[in-house]
Amino acid sequence: MSTETKPKALQGGEFLIRESAPQDIFIPEEFNEEQRMIAQTCTEFLQQNVWPNVEKIDHQEEGLMVSLLEKAGELGLLGISVPEDLGGFGKDFVTTMLATERTGAGYSFSVAIAAHTGIGTLPTLYYGNEEQRKKYIPKLASGEWKACYCLTEPGSGSDANSGKTKAVLTPDGKHYIINGQKMWITNGGFADVFTVFAKIDDDKNLSAFIVEKGFGGITLNPEEKKMGIKGSSTRQVFFNDCKVPVENLLSTRENGFKIAVNILNIGRIKLAGAALGGAKQTLDIAITYANERQQFGKSISSFGAIQQKLADMAIYCYVVESATYRCSYDMEQAIEALEAGGADHDRAVERRGAVRRRGRDPESGRQRMPGLCGGRSRADLWWHGLQRRKPCRARVPRQPDQPDLRRNERDQPPAHRGHAVEARDERPARPDGPRHASGF
Ligand SMILES: Cc1cc2nc3c(=O)[nH]c(=O)nc-3n(C[C@H](O)[C@H](O)[C@H](O)COP(=O)(O)OP(=O)(O)OC[C@H]3O[C@@H](n4cnc5c(N)ncnc54)[C@H](O)[C@@H]3O)c2cc1C
Repeated sequence: MSTETKPKALQGGEFLIRESAPQDIFIPEEFNEEQRMIAQTCTEFLQQNVWPNVEKIDHQEEGLMVSLLEKAGELGLLGISVPEDLGGFGKDFVTTMLATERTGAGYSFSVAIAAHTGIGTLPTLYYGNEEQRKKYIPKLASGEWKACYCLTEPGSGSDANSGKTKAVLTPDGKHYIINGQKMWITNGGFADVFTVFAKIDDDKNLSAFIVEKGFGGITLNPEEKKMGIKGSSTRQVFFNDCKVPVENLLSTRENGFKIAVNILNIGRIKLAGAALGGAKQTLDIAITYANERQQFGKSISSFGAIQQKLADMAIYCYVVESATYRCSYDMEQAIEALEAGGADHDRAVERRGAVRRRGRDPESGRQRMPGLCGGRSRADLWWHGLQRRKPCRARVPRQPDQPDLRRNERDQPPAHRGHAVEARDERPARPDGPRHASGF
């Protein structure tokens, strides 16, 4: 029996007032080998499939985003948090966040994958009954079906429960007929499965429905012309007498508003992870440019004002990273506490293979790094890491223990066999670059 004493999970904003021991605060230096390798797989996916195609993605080349999502599905990137019995890898929340961060560097692709794996998949994963989960989740985890989430309407944004989309039961009681208009629906242009929020008759609160495109009665407006993330699909979706089987009501009547906001709550922290990935990528690009651009006979990165801007960017990334993963781990702790209290967490948050804070990693046998290392804070460690970075993105062969997320299910191994050495601690400044900001 374990003698490990666990700190009580934080409640709400309790972190503001409760004293926290350093070792109880998760820091990214504690990612285990498997988490780092999953992160590496995500980055390689972007390197090989997304970054070379950014222009085509931004111009919404026909079928490209769909094929990228399918490739991501083949690699297992759409099922990282999906339980194994539903075709996923059942990884814990911190791992999911790390993958979200990495794919967050994928420009418009990051929006499509985040919407699919988040607001598209989670309503059914968290609130679906057994039949619904078995029917939809494996296909969503593999990428065979793409998903979207239909809450917003022309007259209902922040005030989401005021939506006017209606669902009416047919006289034989076998179907709901849905009529209404949704707007700004991410992945709307190619989704096969829509989570649709509508009011049954004159209900006060929304209900939620799993709607397949194949049910008919769904039409789309052209793609919105956005100022950024131009490659992601954003459409108006019209439901005209869309006939939905009664068994596709998600959870219970009038529980849809709760589902909608709970899913958006998960989306909020995930957005922090995705934004962090984009910010780190931006910093990398900025540093590369500052090193290459010559003015007055030297690279502009040698000027103090440029160094300060890069340092500011690095500081913001560091702060967001620290807060995001601390919070992610706190969520993991809360899930554990719910489990310990006997809660049916299956429908709320799926948790598998949770990160253990102390002791040895069960896979590698390696001692985990505690929150403080040799009396140094995370900032010290980070700074120390920056000082000893070597040239980045060295190519090394795949290690024998490196997870190939779908190894058993593919005839051929993926074409890529070189792997960017991620290891932030091992990635030093470019020789001519500002040592303090060359980071991620
Ligand atoms: C690129 C993109 C993708 C999207 N994808 C999806 C999707 O996949 N599915 C989906 O359902 N929706 C989607 N949306 C819609 C998005 O969720 C809504 O934009 C959001 O809910 C806000 O609604 P609104 O834009 O109508 O703003 P409004 O509700 O009109 O708000 C306008 C402003 O008023 C402020 N405001 C509102 N209420 C208050 C208040 N009580 N107090 C103070 N300030 C307030 C808001 O903060 C905001 O600044 C997407 C939007 C965009 C831009």
